[in-house]
Amino acid sequence: MSVTVVGSLNEDVLVSVARLPGRGETVIGRSAVLAPGGKGANQAAAAGMLAERGAGAVHMVGRVGEDPAGHRQLAALAASRVDVSRVHRTPGAPTGSATIPVEDGTGENLIVVVPGANAALTPEDAGVGSVRRAAVVLLQLETPMATVTAAARAATGTVVLTPAPPQPLPAALRDRVDVLVPNEHELAQLAGAGPGERTPSELVRLARVVAPCAVVVTLGARGALVVLPEEHPLLQAPPPVTAVDTTGAGDCFCGALAHALAAGTDLPAAVRFAVTAAAISTTGPGARGALPDAAAVRALLP
Ligand code: ATP
Repeated sequence: MSVTVVGSLNEDVLVSVARLPGRGETVIGRSAVLAPGGKGANQAAAAGMLAERGAGAVHMVGRVGEDPAGHRQLAALAASRVDVSRVHRTPGAPTGSATIPVEDGTGENLIVVVPGANAALTPEDAGVGSVRRAAVVLLQLETPMATVTAAARAATGTVVLTPAPPQPLPAALRDRVDVLVPNEHELAQLAGAGPGERTPSELVRLARVVAPCAVVVTLGARGALVVLPEEHPLLQAPPPVTAVDTTGAGDCFCGALAHALAAGTDLPAAVRFAVTAAAISTTGPGARGALPDAAAVRALLP
């Protein structure tokens, strides 16, 4: 059973700096490293690495530019066993990019995203057979809202949405989402609540305000909270790991959740699988440096 991801592909430029620059200030970076990124592509890569021989494929629908960065993003995704035949090269638009200075020692960062070709992904791009036939369609909000909505409405399988970057969801999209996967900060913004850490019962209340569907709130090192409309919430803790870099843990979580749901796993068990996969992903560098295969996840399942 297949997973189709409709979303962004970016090239991340990771710049290490002794201190983040202030407004109008120039600082000299120590190094600059290019890495494949974009929420959509990261989620597809995570699902691709989990796919087992003979099982369904993972398809990506997206846009890159006709530039070397676009070529690098396609190659990186294909190396993660993702079908990229529906990632179009777009004349006249650069591949999306994210420039990220990261402060040595603290890991604090700033992020400037230029959507580039991602902004040219159309509702027509999303109306393809791989979206209509997928067991799970995985969506985020780094491509135009009209395209995300069209993908959700074209889907016949389970629709999973990461509402990031957070923004109001049109009813036509919200009504078609089966599983919403925000982190705490995104949930608070969608609910119109202030920032800050909340108790599980406060999170449950916000989740029920935000959407009538299943909501899975990711809670970093505390795991994930499953909120179903008519059932008791369930908190799933991660297995013990030594986290070295949590970048992209949320994307690994979503790719793994989609993989498990596409295999017919029920939501609580799929969340257990996703929490375990995401925990493993924090044990290596960057968003795609430690994506596990299915055997590694099974070996660590609580
Ligand atoms: P990112 O933006 O870095 O991708 P996020 O803010 O969207 O992450 P988080 O809630 O931080 O998402 O993390 C997603 C999932 O990754 C968590 O639900 C948890 O399962 C796992 N995870 C994150 N940090 C840790 C950690 N330190 N140890 C174990 N698991 C973790």
